[in-house]
Amino acid sequence: MKVRFAPSPTGYLHIGGLRTALYNYLFAKNNNAKLLLRIEDTDRNRYVKNADQQIIKTLKSFGIEFDEGPFYQSQRLEIYQKYVKQLVKEDKAYYCFCSKERLDEMRSAQIAEKKIPKYDRHCLNLSEEEIKKKLDNKESYVVRLKLLDNQDVIFKDEVYGEVKINTNNMDDQVLLKSDGYPTYHLAVVVDDHEMDITHIIRGEEWLPSTPKHILLYQMFNWEIPKFIHLPLLLNPDKSKLSKRQGDVAAEDFLKKGYLPEAILNYIAFLGWNPKTTKEIYSIEELIRDFDIAKINKAGAIFNIEKLNWFNAEYVRNIVKEKGQRYEKLLEKSKKYFPKNLEKNKLENIFIVLSSRLNYLSELEESSKFIFELPDYDSQMLIFKKSDLDKTKAGLKLIYKQLENNTADWELENLDNLLKNIVNNSELNPGDVFWPLRVALSGLDKSPSPSEILWILEKNESLDRINIALNKLK
Ligand code: GLU
Repeated sequence: MKVRFAPSPTGYLHIGGLRTALYNYLFAKNNNAKLLLRIEDTDRNRYVKNADQQIIKTLKSFGIEFDEGPFYQSQRLEIYQKYVKQLVKEDKAYYCFCSKERLDEMRSAQIAEKKIPKYDRHCLNLSEEEIKKKLDNKESYVVRLKLLDNQDVIFKDEVYGEVKINTNNMDDQVLLKSDGYPTYHLAVVVDDHEMDITHIIRGEEWLPSTPKHILLYQMFNWEIPKFIHLPLLLNPDKSKLSKRQGDVAAEDFLKKGYLPEAILNYIAFLGWNPKTTKEIYSIEELIRDFDIAKINKAGAIFNIEKLNWFNAEYVRNIVKEKGQRYEKLLEKSKKYFPKNLEKNKLENIFIVLSSRLNYLSELEESSKFIFELPDYDSQMLIFKKSDLDKTKAGLKLIYKQLENNTADWELENLDNLLKNIVNNSELNPGDVFWPLRVALSGLDKSPSPSEILWILEKNESLDRINIALNKLK
C-alpha cells in the first residue's frame, strides 16, 4: 500500500491541507504503507516562489515525515507528454487549436442559451494534413481528451459511496496545455499510476474531478486506486473555511505558539471520529486507532475555541509532568519575556500564567504587568461591596503581615497568610483579596493575589501595595 500528499505550491499550507497530510500519514503508519510527497506545480499562473519549501518546512515542524519525495511535476513534463502522444495515437485525445477568443465567445453564447458550457468539439475532426500544417506553423494548441458519447462513469468513493456521471454531462477536458505543461487531471493520474499509489486520500473538493480521472485510468487501461475523499472544513457559520474569518495557514498557528501535537490532535477529529469519549490522543494513539471506515461525510467545523481548549489542555499537562517537554516549552516561552530574566523567576511566571493561556504568544501580553505596573484608577482598588476605609485597612494589614513574614516565600505559605488575615479580622475577603490583586497587577483581571505575590517577590510586592495606599490617601 502506498499513499501520497500532493500539495500545490500556491501559498502556505492550509489547515485543511495539514489535515489531509495528517490523514495520509496516519493511514500510512497504521497500515505499514509508504507515504510520498509530490509537489503539484504545473499551474504556472498560481505558482508562488518557495511555497514548496515553506510547505515542506511546516510539515516537518508537525513531525509529518515522508518515505519518498518530494517529487516535482514540473520536472516530469516529458513523461506526461509521452502519455498524451500515446492517447492521441490511439484516437483517445485530439489537438485543439481554438483561440482563447473563440472559446470565450462560445462559452458566452452557451451561457446565454442556458446551456452548461462545454467545448463544442470544433477541432475534433481536423484532418491529419490540417493538423500537421498547423503544427508546422507553430500554432498554439492544447490536447483534449476525446470522450465517448453517452457513457456512464461509475466509481465508489470509500467515504461518499457510489458516484455516477454520464459523459454527455462532461467536457472534452484539456490534458496538455499550450505551454507544454499537463493539466492537474492528467498529471495526477499519470503520477498516481507511475508512483504506484494504492489509496488516494484528499479533500472533498476533488470529488467532482474524480470521474475525469477514472476515464483516464480506463483509457490507459490502468488499475484504479481506492478513493477516500475527506469532508470540507467549515467556518462556524458553515461557509467554507477561509482566511476572512481568521487564521487558516498552519504555520500561523505555530507562530502564535500553539503546540504542533495539540493542533494535530484537534484536526484529527475534523472529519474522523474514533467513536469514544476520549479526546486527548497522542500521535501514537491516533496512528493506532485511525480507520478510514470512521471518516464522516459531513463538513467539519473548524472551531478556534475548541483548538484553544486542546492547546491549553496540552500545556497544562506538560506543566504538570515537569519532564523534558516542560523544559522545551519553558525554553520556547523565553522569547515572550524580557531578556536576562532569571530562570527561577521565568519558571514561576510560566507556571502561573500557563494555567490560563490558550497559546504561548499570549504570554507576552499577559505578563506585562509583572515587569511594569500599569497605571490604574484608585477607584479600581475598592471592591463593589467594600468602601475606602475597609480597603485601606485591608491593604495596611497585608502590608504589615507581609513585611514581617518569615516563612518561605512560597505559594502555599502566601495563600495561608492571606487566608489567615481574613479569618482573624473583621474584614471580608472582598476587602482584602480584591484590593491586593488590583494593587499588585493594576488590572481588573489577573491571576490570584497569592500567585502574583509569589512571582513579584517581597520587595516589589510591598512597593506596589504602598503605591496603592498612596493612591487612596
Ligand atoms: N494538488 C492538489 C491540491 O493542492 C491535490 C489534489 C490531489 O490530492 O489529487 O489540493
